[in-house]
Amino acid sequence: MFTVRGPVDGSQLGFTLMHEHVIFRDTEFSKDYPDLSWQPDRPSALARAVTGLQAAADAGVRTIVDCTAFFHGRDMDFVREVNERVDMHIVVATGIYTFDYLPNMIMRRSLRGPGDRDILTEMFVRDITRGIGDSGIRAQIIKVATDLEGVTPNNERILRAAARAHRETGAPITTHTQPLERNGLDQQRLFRAEGVDLRRVVIGHSGDTTDLDYLMELMDAGSVTGHDRFGLYLPGWAGLPERVDTIFRLCERGYADRIVLSHDSILHNDRNDLASPRMAPMPDWRMTHVPLDVVPLLRERGVSEVDLEAMTVSTPRRILEAGPAY
Ligand SMILES: [Zn+2]
Repeated sequence: MFTVRGPVDGSQLGFTLMHEHVIFRDTEFSKDYPDLSWQPDRPSALARAVTGLQAAADAGVRTIVDCTAFFHGRDMDFVREVNERVDMHIVVATGIYTFDYLPNMIMRRSLRGPGDRDILTEMFVRDITRGIGDSGIRAQIIKVATDLEGVTPNNERILRAAARAHRETGAPITTHTQPLERNGLDQQRLFRAEGVDLRRVVIGHSGDTTDLDYLMELMDAGSVTGHDRFGLYLPGWAGLPERVDTIFRLCERGYADRIVLSHDSILHNDRNDLASPRMAPMPDWRMTHVPLDVVPLLRERGVSEVDLEAMTVSTPRRILEAGPAY
């Protein structure tokens, strides 16, 4: 499989966080207002990102999946420079991060990609087969998102484009959902309609809910659920004990091979005002929380070593070792 540093055998992946971000930024904002974006400059942002990723490596993380898609402000130069300084496998994503809005270069050219296919499919396939921009770094997973708006016409178009790129390349799909809306099921419905093997799909952010029936329904259809926002304990969302308990109950029922863990943390995020006290209440939202805190809590709660290995090593490997096109 492909990583930022080149091809890697699946056996080398080890402990894997399946949904993280190296960088989140608005490229136009950072071009025109660099100091406001980088806080205050690129070298300091790079240094902070290196420190955060090195801490994860020191905690035993061997691989992260960077789910930063188009519209997040992907920056392969930044990711590569971080990776040159930290010994870690970084798998990067294609896809698009939007819940409904699509810009004109996509709206107006809806089906005008080469071969008269959706230009979104063309973008995703290029990132996977040729690499992102001129970086030479090939994406290995396709990221799409559905949120409170639900499956709007634009969202349906995005999900179908992802499904087609998946079938054309074999690269797995990983999603953003709003589990309180149970819209992972809507995503599955559309993917199924496109002939997608749901076992090759990660329904992300599922761990924000404690609704076992919803989670089991997603996994009974074959998909992996992402319990991938450890540390992001926003008001009204499941806290750490609830998240740990939910995973324990699912493991008891035999679902450990369809669960992956992560934080959805971001090493450089231009949405965060570094000087703001609002940053303070989420001290656990960092790439070391799962290996250092969550895994020991799961173990204490009664999750077996076999199940822990499945969630952190073998299931991520199974997903990332892209199957053939079909
Ligand atoms: Zn994310």
